[in-house]
Amino acid sequence: MTDSAQNSPPQTAPTATATSPTETEQTKTEQTKATPNGVEHRSLVLTSYDPRTSELLGDYAMMGADEVTRTIREAKSAQRWWAGLGSAGRKRWLLDWKKAIAKRAADLVEVVVQETGKPHDDAWLEVMLAVEHLDWAAKNAGKVLDRHKVRSGLVAINQASSVGYEPLGVVGVIGPWNYPVYTPMGSIAYALAAGNAVVFKPSELTPGTGTWLAETWRTLAPNQPVFQVVTGDADTGAALCRSRVDKVAFTGSAATARKVLAICAESLTPAVIEGGGKDAMIVGADAKLDDAAEAAVFGGMGNAGQTCVGVERVYAVETVFDDFVALVEKKARKLKPGADRGAAYGPMTREAQVEVVRNHVRDALDKGGTAVVGGLDSIREPYIQPIVLVDVPEDSIAVTEETFGPVLVINRVRDLSEAIARANATSYALGASVFTRDTRTGQWVAERLRAGVVTINSVLGFAGVAALPFGGVGDSGFGRIHGADGLREFSRVKSIARQKRRAPLHLLTMDRKARHLRLSKWVFKTRHAR
Ligand code: NAD
Repeated sequence: MTDSAQNSPPQTAPTATATSPTETEQTKTEQTKATPNGVEHRSLVLTSYDPRTSELLGDYAMMGADEVTRTIREAKSAQRWWAGLGSAGRKRWLLDWKKAIAKRAADLVEVVVQETGKPHDDAWLEVMLAVEHLDWAAKNAGKVLDRHKVRSGLVAINQASSVGYEPLGVVGVIGPWNYPVYTPMGSIAYALAAGNAVVFKPSELTPGTGTWLAETWRTLAPNQPVFQVVTGDADTGAALCRSRVDKVAFTGSAATARKVLAICAESLTPAVIEGGGKDAMIVGADAKLDDAAEAAVFGGMGNAGQTCVGVERVYAVETVFDDFVALVEKKARKLKPGADRGAAYGPMTREAQVEVVRNHVRDALDKGGTAVVGGLDSIREPYIQPIVLVDVPEDSIAVTEETFGPVLVINRVRDLSEAIARANATSYALGASVFTRDTRTGQWVAERLRAGVVTINSVLGFAGVAALPFGGVGDSGFGRIHGADGLREFSRVKSIARQKRRAPLHLLTMDRKARHLRLSKWVFKTRHAR
């Protein structure tokens, strides 16, 4: 497949690799560059580092408002071509893009591993899941969004009614670093499939991953910049919010979400917010304890706990509490973080997060919690050994705020009702899980949990189900990505009512006949007042 227009999108390829920096968090550096006329000028550069080794991976453009504006302009023009293809045409392009990503998945995995430090297997899992979403969005957009008839009903029987979902225009996607492919793809794939152009601002910690994705699109359609990347930090993200895009899809912390919304408010730009989480797992008296413990350790420690829908809190019913904790303890002790291929998980990708984790663990212990695995000594930058805390007071920040580290808090509860009340007590409400052998009990609990998604007898079981909408409540955000709702999130609904013939009871006229209204009243009473 080839495109036809002449303009090429801007390049954001890395400009250097080599030497070791002294601090990994220092992603913004000033560089002096010589121009062809010999005049030196200073420019800001975004530098990406490997959090395992502090090795410099590459320099990327620190894009400012002008570059963002230029990118949006190009996106607007490409979007007209893209929208004109219709869902069937876009499906072909998106499936080609999917194939290009899948063919070179090993390269993408390598970039993700280097930028986040996560083990190869985890990066593979992330890329495979992201591709599933791209595939689903491409294949289902037509079914969900194309114009379709709806019933007009008795009182408007003379109307032919239909609903269609139109693209918004250009969507600005702002992503985090913890799942730098899977997470933004939840917006990118669905926004593109709905006919929008996308300008993606990856996290300053993972600019290479975002650039890799944009390059695969550019190789496919060099003259149609339907999907582009702008690299940079918070200022670049803010510039994207100010750039009059038609919607912002933000994924990140609740604190940044507030800033994003404040900027969007200036121009009434709508936004979908995928915020953080403090997910709870509930373990019932009849749960398969070994399965529950395995899931708690995976959900709590996987990706070094840097998962928005990871398990941060467990509420286990007191009759099984001790047995459950013993199983978790045994499994957690086996985990060894590191940089080697056999490591259970990698380093803390964001250096500053280490201090957050330390504060949470210290507060939990100071308030009377007990560490059954690890403790404050487990925190040695950039790796944190597994930490399991029990009987942590509910007002501890390890219970109320997002820890985002390999720390599991397990508290005992009398019964499922108390577990639900505690699970629902934080400002976050993203995901939750429940373990029970009884299907009806599982459903009963799931329906009472304040969360955007609940898994029964698994954690993260929803992640591969592209048809399931995903998103949070409260500090975890609003709006939905994934599934049919995810496609509609990036669309504007338009209703059309076509009059086929004059209505038998003609009421929409200034010459309304008394007889018609009399008859209408009779129909109304007969239908609704009996
Ligand atoms: P963050 O809020 O620090 O940054 C997210 C993105 O926002 C980055 O690209 C950053 O450059 C940009 N940004 C920062 N300030 C900005 C501003 N003023 N205006 C516009 N953009 C700005 O989050 P993070 O540390 O990258 O990611 C971790 C957080 O993301 C956690 O809270 C995690 O739970 C959450 N997360 C949520 C989901 C989800 O789907 N709900 C998925 C993954 C991560």
